Amino acid sequence: MAFDLAVIGCGGIGSAVLYHAAKTGAKAIGIEQFQPVHDRGSSHGHTRIIRQAYFEHPDYVPLLLEAYQLWSELEQSAGQQLYVQTGLLQAGPVDGEIVPGVLRSAALHDLAVDQLTAQQAMERYPMFRLPADHIAAFEQRAGYLFVEQCVGAHLRLAVEANAQLFSDTRLIDFDASGELIRLNTDRGIIEARRMVMTVGAWLPRWMSAVNMPLTVLRKHLHWYQSNDQRTQRSQGCPLFFFENEIGSFYGFPAIDAQWGLKVAEHSGGESISDPATLDRTLESNDLARIEQFLGEYFHGELIHQQHAVCMYTMTKDQHFLIDVHPHDDRIWLAGGFSGHGFKFASVLGKLVSQAALGNGWDERLKFLRAAAQRQN
Ligand SMILES: Cc1cc2nc3c(=O)[nH]c(=O)nc-3n(C[C@H](O)[C@H](O)[C@H](O)COP(=O)(O)OP(=O)(O)OC[C@H]3O[C@@H](n4cnc5c(N)ncnc54)[C@H](O)[C@@H]3O)c2cc1C
Repeated sequence: MAFDLAVIGCGGIGSAVLYHAAKTGAKAIGIEQFQPVHDRGSSHGHTRIIRQAYFEHPDYVPLLLEAYQLWSELEQSAGQQLYVQTGLLQAGPVDGEIVPGVLRSAALHDLAVDQLTAQQAMERYPMFRLPADHIAAFEQRAGYLFVEQCVGAHLRLAVEANAQLFSDTRLIDFDASGELIRLNTDRGIIEARRMVMTVGAWLPRWMSAVNMPLTVLRKHLHWYQSNDQRTQRSQGCPLFFFENEIGSFYGFPAIDAQWGLKVAEHSGGESISDPATLDRTLESNDLARIEQFLGEYFHGELIHQQHAVCMYTMTKDQHFLIDVHPHDDRIWLAGGFSGHGFKFASVLGKLVSQAALGNGWDERLKFLRAAAQRQN
């Protein structure tokens, strides 16, 4: 039996592609090398930020508006809460990347964002200490997604919509010379009319035909217990994303006893060659940078609670790669999410499955093609 669509890699993005493909009635199969939902790729660590006033580029905003709607629909279908609105405080230098980018996207797309001085921001959010000459932007509509639960919900509903899910099954290579694509997996041959590669940090090995270098970075997540009650979600602590001369750091309020204040560095990261042998130990230089940031921006005593390692798959300009394979229009690539892709999983699931099934390439995706000429 040949499938209409094979989705290779069922993590953050692939799980959503599989779900949306199955929902259209297509005969879809997901092939995942591990047992989902797992912590060996890029979609684990409890939470992910979702926001609309996108500093990275205003062209992401129309996708985000639909992403919000689709996450809400997924919550309804799955019967579980996946999103929590907390608001997000972003701050940095007046000529930095983050706040000017947020304000640009907000202005172009008429999004509600409060522009604040550092002093005003600290009066409203006294759990933070900001440099006096920085500016801030507060986005009320931002919040976080429960990352593993989102992946789990997409996969469960995909299977309920008759998708096949082959877990613990690895794609070794494929042959696209015939009418059907023959997928050679470690559990035998699977045939499909079309395929999507959503393999995250494993994408570089499949990129020989695409002229776009990718770098995989090891990234760390840290959770802390704080004696400052104002860092609790229940006390109104928002998400934060702060830029300074050292780098950019972001995080989440303490949610409960298990999940304390979460913080990570968005900038930097150490390049790795093989995601399968990722070193998961705590790294002293990363920890020192995090603790310097925490000392400067927070009050009270912070005790390190837990740590996780994850991977960013970086393109050169940090914009996603969503494109058809240059030699075969039956094969789609969706990757290079550069550390900011998860919030888009819902909408990319819909639009990438639609394109890959041959049902039209949404205009909003075209700025993410490998050869796209983006206006900054
Ligand atoms: C620390 C950290 C913090 C982040 N914070 C945010 C955030 O706040 N907001 C946000 O929007 N984004 C964030 N991101 C980015 C976001 O999480 C990722 O962009 C997104 O989860 C990537 O999803 P993916 O499907 O590409 O990769 P993955 O979820 O890793 O999925 C790829 C899957 O492919 C499978 N696979 C690979 N090769 C094969 C093969 N040959 N055969 C079968 N299966 C295969 C893998 O096992 C894996 O399950 C963060 C990322 C990290 C690491």
